Amino acid sequence: MRQTTSSVATIDRLINRLVASERPILFGHERPDGDAVGAALGLMWLLRGLGKRVTVSFADPLSANLSFLPGAETVADLPVADHDLIVALDGSDERRYGANFSAALNDPSRPPLIAIDHHKTNTGFADESWVDSRFAATAQMVYALALQAAWPVDQRAATCLATGCVTDTNAFTTDHTTPELLDAVASLMRRGAPLADIIREGIALKSEADAMLWGRVLATATIEDGVAYALSRLVDRNAVNASEGDGSGIVSFLRNVRGVALSILFVEQEDGQTRLSFRSNPDTDVAALALEWGGGGHAQAAGATVALPLDEAVAQIVPAAKRLVSASHTDSGA
Ligand code: 5GP
Ligand code: MN
Repeated sequence: MRQTTSSVATIDRLINRLVASERPILFGHERPDGDAVGAALGLMWLLRGLGKRVTVSFADPLSANLSFLPGAETVADLPVADHDLIVALDGSDERRYGANFSAALNDPSRPPLIAIDHHKTNTGFADESWVDSRFAATAQMVYALALQAAWPVDQRAATCLATGCVTDTNAFTTDHTTPELLDAVASLMRRGAPLADIIREGIALKSEADAMLWGRVLATATIEDGVAYALSRLVDRNAVNASEGDGSGIVSFLRNVRGVALSILFVEQEDGQTRLSFRSNPDTDVAALALEWGGGGHAQAAGATVALPLDEAVAQIVPAAKRLVSASHTDSGA
């Protein structure tokens, strides 16, 4: 499954919309990651460079790993007010952008909405979308758009855009790390993006609470039939004063255990629901699995939130994951 609406004409239409706007508001997805924030802040600096008044709105606060980004302090959970264009970045469906975005979407007098996204599960919710799952990161798409538009790219924009490229490839370790992605990052480095600092700040650095939580979450890990899973329980997060996003790196760590095809982190929520974070190795596509449970994502990294308590979520989803692994390996062996 690959999805693309890429063409020079599509990108030109978005460039024209952006150039015509004076007061755009940029949204990235909730629980923002480095690509959502890097793409939004990168586009903010590009558009500010053109003299526009730009607002960046996120439903959730930025994680400490993204506070080094130029402009991070300007981000807040802001409503669409007197803006003349809404831009949605890096989220594959309209429910991923939080309450302020949903409110605007339901307002018949809202300004036009455009989307830039690299998820193959994108639903086409915007008035005009550029979706291309061949890109490793939405930030890489924003950079391609800036080059096509011949906009100036300063060091701040370059740093934000490179961060999206680095974090969504987990520092060039995923299978969507293409020569084009490396070219884009090299070019952003020439424009001043500090690559080694970005990898350390954006990915490697952990809080003490996060480090302590790893021990507790890894102690719950189970590895069976090519599936590795672990639990981030509220009681464990509270014990070490960790937040919901802490421990999120564990799902990638478990995917890298020899013999594991698919890993899952079950994150118990305050409201009784469970967040699922999936990772897989190239033979196994978790995007469809996440979609089945109401979420979405990429072939090798996807997620969803289910209205089930933690133990029930494990009981239902682990068998489904094992069936997927077993079917994937039968297919690829056939
Ligand atoms: P993570 O496991 O890091 O939270 O998410 C991995 C990937 O899946 C990301 O690309 C993210 O955008 C996507 N994803 C995570 N949760 C959801 C969700 O609830 N809905 C959708 N549509 N995509 C999700
Ligand atoms: Mn992304």
